[in-house]
Formats: sequence, C-alpha cells, structure tokens
Amino acid sequence: MPSNLDDYRGVCVFIEQARDKIASVAFELLGEGRKLADKLQVPLSGILLGDNNIRALAGDVIAHGADIVYLIDDPQLKDYTTSAYLAGSLQIVNRYKPEILLLGATTMGRDLGGALATRLATGLTADCTGLDIEEGSRNLKQTRPAFGGNIMATIMTKRHRPQMSTVRPRVMRALVPDPSRQGKVIEEKMPAFDMTARVIDFICQVKTDAPLEDAEIIVSGGKGVGGAKNFAILKELADVLGGVVGGSRKAADAGWVPVSSQVGQTGKTVRPKIYFACGISGAIQHLVGMQTSDVIVAINTDKEAPIFKVATYSIVGDLLQVVPMFTRIFKKRLGTPE
Ligand SMILES: Cc1cc2nc3c(=O)[nH]c(=O)nc-3n(C[C@H](O)[C@H](O)[C@H](O)COP(=O)(O)OP(=O)(O)OC[C@H]3O[C@@H](n4cnc5c(N)ncnc54)[C@H](O)[C@@H]3O)c2cc1C
Repeated sequence: MPSNLDDYRGVCVFIEQARDKIASVAFELLGEGRKLADKLQVPLSGILLGDNNIRALAGDVIAHGADIVYLIDDPQLKDYTTSAYLAGSLQIVNRYKPEILLLGATTMGRDLGGALATRLATGLTADCTGLDIEEGSRNLKQTRPAFGGNIMATIMTKRHRPQMSTVRPRVMRALVPDPSRQGKVIEEKMPAFDMTARVIDFICQVKTDAPLEDAEIIVSGGKGVGGAKNFAILKELADVLGGVVGGSRKAADAGWVPVSSQVGQTGKTVRPKIYFACGISGAIQHLVGMQTSDVIVAINTDKEAPIFKVATYSIVGDLLQVVPMFTRIFKKRLGTPE
C-alpha cells in the first residue's frame, strides 16, 4: 500500500556512533541533509541512539546542521545490535515521520537501513553518490552507479515514505561546525522489543595497514604505471609529501598494489587534499571513489583520457618522467635530503 505522502515532512539523518564517538559519515550526511532540508523548507533532524554519555553528543549534531535531535538513552543501546537499534529508530521514524531518511553506507548503516526499510515497507537506495530534490515535487533524486558502474542511475521512491538512502563515507561534505547553533533535543523512551542477539564482548580491531581513507595526500597509479617495480617511483613521491600510495583496480588486479589500496566503486572511497592519478584512465568506477578530492593532479600520455575531465591540473606526459620530476622539486622545496 502506498504511504499517505502528506503525513511525512522533514529530513532525518541516522547519527551513527560507537563508544561515544560519532562516525564522520553522520556529519557528512548532516551537511547534505541541510541542503535538502533547506530546499524543501523543512527541519533537519538526527536520530541519536546510545547509552550513558549519549546526551553529550547532541550538541555536536546541532553544531553540524541539525535543528532537532531525537535521542534515546538506554543501556540496551550500549553496543549496536540490529534488534535494539531497529526498535529505537523505528519508534522515532513512526512517530515523527520524516520524508527523507539518510544513513551511512557502513556496516552498521547497511544493516540497520535494510531492516528499517523492510519494516517501514519503503524503498532504500544503497551507496548513493548524489542526492537532490526533483524540480516541482518533493521526491528525492537518488543517484548511484548501476549495471556494474557503466551508467549512473537516478532512482526515486515516489509512492512510499520515508525515502531512504545510504551514502558511503567521504562522498558528501560536512559543514564547518557552528557551536552557537541552537536546536531542540527530544528524548524518547526505549520501546519493548524482542532481543534476538546479545553483545558479550567488544574487541576493537587494531588496523595495521596504511589508512588510505584518512590520508591527506594519495599518489595513485594505474595500468599506465607499467609494473610493480615502477610503483617505487610513486612511493618515493608519496613519502616526500607524507602521503600514501593507492591504485586503480587494474593495478590491484595485477598485484602491483594491495587490494586494500584499491580506490573506486569496489575499493575505497577517498577524499584527500591532493590525489595524484598517474597512468589512470578515469573509468567511472574509479572516479566515484576519488572525484570529491580537493585537488586532483592527473598525469596521462593520452590527452583525451577521461580523468582530465575531473582533474584540477592536467599533465599530458609520461608518468615515468613527470613523477620523478615532481619528487625532485618537492624534495628541494621541502628541504628533504636527496
Ligand atoms: C563492477 C565493476 C567495478 C569496478 N570497480 C573499480 C574500482 O573500484 N576501481 C577502479 O579503479 N576500477 C574499477 N573497475 C574497473 C574500471 O572499469 C577500469 O577498468 C579501471 O579503472 C581501469 O584502470 P586503469 O585506469 O588503471 O587502466 P586503463 O583504463 O588501462 O588506463 C591506463 C591509462 O594509463 C595511461 N598511460 C599508459 N602509459 C602511461 C605513461 N607512461 N604515463 C602516463 N599515462 C600512461 C593510458 O593512456 C591510460 O589512460 C570496475 C569495473 C567494474 C565492471
């Protein structure tokens, strides 16, 4: 049965948090949610679930753009479980009826999003890379790669509410927090629910590999690098600049970079301050993982390469000459010993 569309108003973001730390994707979604809410002229809210210190986080949610924070503070929400978080967020969504509900495309957001959409009998578009409001209606345009990334599809949930989307970390931009922003905090009680799983222990995994997603400078290489050995040239530039090395899928498939360093649709989504794309053609599946980088420097022998369409600086040339030249210049400028 279609929803009564007029019953639903407002844009809402699920505020993912663990151990009293809000996930950066929640702030990014608040930034995007603010734009959508302003277009629709409705409030932006956040759903904040947790226990103990959770109230202390509400101010941060408001500072990042929310007008209202719906909060449930309950010991059953200490660690994430589908049943508890589903019960808490379902109660809030059913009571306050937002027309749009955004979640991070993270392990938690993907799990909760699917469960929520099923219970709300509405549509969910996963891994969106663009969100907007359709001209002349209140429909959310949810854009994401489709058919193996060969096309960008814009999907709408026209007859059901809320319209639900997940978005990967680092795709949207967070607002600069404004601690003077004022908002409302509305506390709800945890509803009764069937506990289907219980967390016995929480063990934090220590990451040992280079954190590509957090790097401010990434020197990425593709098929054009020509072999694993040549990646040493990229590593040297990355080291001089304090960055890390990434790669395209072709580079990862060839074993020139670890799969964990692959950037793109089936790899990592990154948004560094500078992204060097060396010998990377710029296939859409690669672009969706890096096109929001602040500055993109593309080096390619083919002046028609699609990567140049998103590049801030386009260098038509052989990377085997250009990259070592960059390294020499930066070494000189930064005073790094030869
Ligand atoms: C479902 C699906 C998911 C995918 N996911 C991803 C993903 O997550 N990430 C990803 O990257 N790809 C992904 N791909 C693959 C993607 O479609 C492309 O095949 C891949 O990105 C191409 O890698 P590339 O740019 O390194 O290689 P190519 O497309 O072969 O480009 C090599 C480039 O190097 C240039 N070149 C050659 N020699 C030099 C030189 N000496 N100096 C400078 N430039 C040189 C060439 O002009 C060319 O532009 C996916 C594909 C599918 C179907």
